[in-house]
Amino acid sequence: MTPEQFRQHGHEVVDWIADYWSRVGDLPVRSQVSPGDVRATLPAQAPEQGEPFSAVLADLDRVVLPGTTHWQHPGFFGYFPANTSGPSVLGDLVSAGLGVQGMSWVTSPAATEVEQHVMDWFAELLGLPSSFRSTSTGGGVVQDSSSGANLVALLAALHRTSTGATVRHGVDPDRATVYVSAETHSSMEKAVRIAGLGSDAVRIVEVDADLAMRPAALAARLERDVARGYTPVLVCATVGTTSTTAIDPLAELGPICQKYGVWLHVDAAYAGVSAIVPELRELQAGVEWADSYTTDAHKWLLTGFDATLFWVADRAALTGALAILPEYLRNAATDAGSVVDLRDWQIPLGRRFRALKLWFVLRWYGAEGLRAHIRSHVAMAQQLAGWAGADERFDVVAPHPFSLVCLRPRWSAEVDADVATMTLLERLNDGGEVFLTHTTVGGRAVLRVAVGAPATTPAHVERVWALLRENHDFLATDFAA
Ligand code: PLP
Repeated sequence: MTPEQFRQHGHEVVDWIADYWSRVGDLPVRSQVSPGDVRATLPAQAPEQGEPFSAVLADLDRVVLPGTTHWQHPGFFGYFPANTSGPSVLGDLVSAGLGVQGMSWVTSPAATEVEQHVMDWFAELLGLPSSFRSTSTGGGVVQDSSSGANLVALLAALHRTSTGATVRHGVDPDRATVYVSAETHSSMEKAVRIAGLGSDAVRIVEVDADLAMRPAALAARLERDVARGYTPVLVCATVGTTSTTAIDPLAELGPICQKYGVWLHVDAAYAGVSAIVPELRELQAGVEWADSYTTDAHKWLLTGFDATLFWVADRAALTGALAILPEYLRNAATDAGSVVDLRDWQIPLGRRFRALKLWFVLRWYGAEGLRAHIRSHVAMAQQLAGWAGADERFDVVAPHPFSLVCLRPRWSAEVDADVATMTLLERLNDGGEVFLTHTTVGGRAVLRVAVGAPATTPAHVERVWALLRENHDFLATDFAA
């Protein structure tokens, strides 16, 4: 493809995306296909000869769209949001067009320095500790996911706890212990596995009625483990748990971690970006105790996947765990120690210029625009929680400080409540106007309404609330018949 052909087809693709965004609200939110349907539309063999680009574009409508669940749909209330936006897509496009590898400073200095700078901006905007800045002992890096961030945090913690011994001898799977709650994201357990620790290393700390980790329970577990000769390595505290957005009390957990010399990692994958709003920042009080922190701009901050913002307070622990300098990567700047090579802050060697899209997003919306985005979703969620709390057909089952509301429909005593709740969910999702997901709280099914798609307005939240009530009434009558 010549640059001129790229220009022509690039314009067509941008038009296609703009048209898609204009009409996404008219499509059924959840893909209606069955397993295998998408593959059945594809030829058995790969193309032997090149095809006109118009054929490729046509297949976006024929093959891809029917098999797509529309996360940018204003009626998308499932999981957590996966925001994207114009400036994010354009930043990614430029990154793809430049096609650079930012593994070392020397392989493309702008890729490293824009990233460091944007991460310092975000550290300030989110009110994170000054130690997280590149100008201090720590620094930030864009990771591919919070799952990846949780893993590198654990590797850094293992390195620090062992005073570097893991690099030479590996981990001691029989001694190292990691502390989570039952509400911690499963990626932390995966990180434990990948790090070579068995699931026996995981200590599940009790939670309180709000599903937040109990500091006293953590202290008791640490005390007992130390007395038995274990080596506590990392405590993973969550700000905004995946199920219900519970908040582990950082201000109380921090001093306990310090007492036992344990690394405090804060997983704020979804909720962390809300700290850009000053009045929401208090929800993360105690963040200054954190040794590392992760939050996903690709969930709720108008930036497309992948854009995980990850910081450490002590970069030496991270690079000590991960840095390797083979001869073919040697260069004068690295040898002089005058630059940061971000490959030493992550698992892969190669890395995309992901900071571009973050830079574009920040410059297009400004911090005030991002605050307005977060504030509007939180306000809509609070409105929904207010309606549901005042309605005898629903219980709001957990605190809802951000933009997720967990609802348990009430059913008559003769009905299996979980079956009825899941039937309600299926009816809503089959309808195509909205999409919700579920979780369990206290072992019982609960509907999660996650407000967060960029196109969602108060009218869409009113609509999901109307659909919840209508479908509840229909099923309640149906079950009674
Ligand atoms: N941690 C928490 C608390 C999450 O809610 C999630 C995803 O929802 C993750 C980690 C994983 O995020 P990612 O998809 O960026 O790996």
